[in-house]
Amino acid sequence: MANLQLTDDVPAVADDGVWLTCIECGESFAPFEEVRYTCDDCDGLLEARYADLPTFDEFEGEGVWRYSAALPFEEGVSLPEGHTPLHRVPRLEEEVGVRSLRVKHEGMNPTGSFKDRGMTVGVRVAQEVGVGRLACASTGNTSAALAAYGARGGMETLVLLPAGKVAAGKIAQAALHKARILEVDGNFDECLDIVQDLADRGEAYLLNSLNPFRLEGQKTIGLEIMEEHYEDYGEYPDRIVLPVGNAGNTAALYKCFRELVKAGEITEEQVPKLTGAQAEGAAPMVEAIEEGNDETRRWEEVETRATAIRIGNPVNAPKALPGIRETGGTAVAVSDEEITEAQRDLAGEGVGVEPASAASIAGLRKLRDRGVIEDDESVVCLTTGHLLKDPDAAAEAGNDPEPVDNSTEAVLDLLGEN
Ligand SMILES: *Cc1c(COP(=O)(O)O)cnc(C)c1O
Ligand SMILES: [Zn+2]
Repeated sequence: MANLQLTDDVPAVADDGVWLTCIECGESFAPFEEVRYTCDDCDGLLEARYADLPTFDEFEGEGVWRYSAALPFEEGVSLPEGHTPLHRVPRLEEEVGVRSLRVKHEGMNPTGSFKDRGMTVGVRVAQEVGVGRLACASTGNTSAALAAYGARGGMETLVLLPAGKVAAGKIAQAALHKARILEVDGNFDECLDIVQDLADRGEAYLLNSLNPFRLEGQKTIGLEIMEEHYEDYGEYPDRIVLPVGNAGNTAALYKCFRELVKAGEITEEQVPKLTGAQAEGAAPMVEAIEEGNDETRRWEEVETRATAIRIGNPVNAPKALPGIRETGGTAVAVSDEEITEAQRDLAGEGVGVEPASAASIAGLRKLRDRGVIEDDESVVCLTTGHLLKDPDAAAEAGNDPEPVDNSTEAVLDLLGEN
């Protein structure tokens, strides 16, 4: 079982108070001397650790780098990212029936997804370790973010995508930001296998969420939610519901909360319950939570309209499963129809999201129906990507254009006003 306890011991390999620890065997490594993504000894996942953890009053400025005191660097390759809206959605709040409901819309980042938060830190680390070629496997948004941040940093970028399974907006971004795009006849998990091989052979710097520094950037989602919710309500949210693919965000949020507890900023009781939502056709995390397993089973066949979470082998499960369990959260599977309905309902509040993002609202609704989430809870749903990422899904879910003759009379006829 993974050990995610933060300790006070600073190992000799620490560089300026930062090091990497293997969550399986506890071995520590220097953070930037060599390139590594997993433990040399046991291949376990690595986590960035700090000698000093900041308190809220040490944060200043806006966006991801507001939280530099909680990150390995003071600044990075920035577009800039973070500082996303925490929308109020009064009609949904009323319909779902919770004390409060807010939507943290990560689609408002520069390339339209939360991946930008991870990339600004990850690309900074790539510069530190001196690797010029960046690579990732992607269901789309990671490739868009990698391409943009790589371009900004003047670096070469390579992305591997599952052919035919990436939404149009995301490929367009990767293409225009000058990534070299390789379409693999396979699913996301198979693309990731290949990119990991390339990275192991020293051909590229891997910027999937297996990279522990990407999760450091994504942890700022949690810091923003906590600060803003406290400002608005005088308390932290009871629960955060989020879409889960590789479970990087789930892992990153749990790390955020462990660090806040360790720094004495919040108590264990104030940690929001991490609640994951997956598509029924790609739900290995839900399966592991429901069956009480310490590991996920790799699903070889996955399918869902929510292509961003069409993932059968969530690499961050060893970090994320304890996060869901220890915080008192849960995981839920939702159908593609439920996802589309939630996407429409969010759009009806003016919040435009891609299908995967709507899984959080669909999951909240289902857990309310089941009585798992109670009516006195304050909930934040994370929406991970922008509506325009997947224009085809939006067009399909939305109203159909109506052809009309070229005259005011014809328009009025159609509106039934004549
Ligand atoms: C990457 C992504 C996810 C999945 O996030 P994980 O951290 O891998 O669980 C969900 N939604 C969107 C829109 C994404 O781009
Ligand atoms: Zn190890």
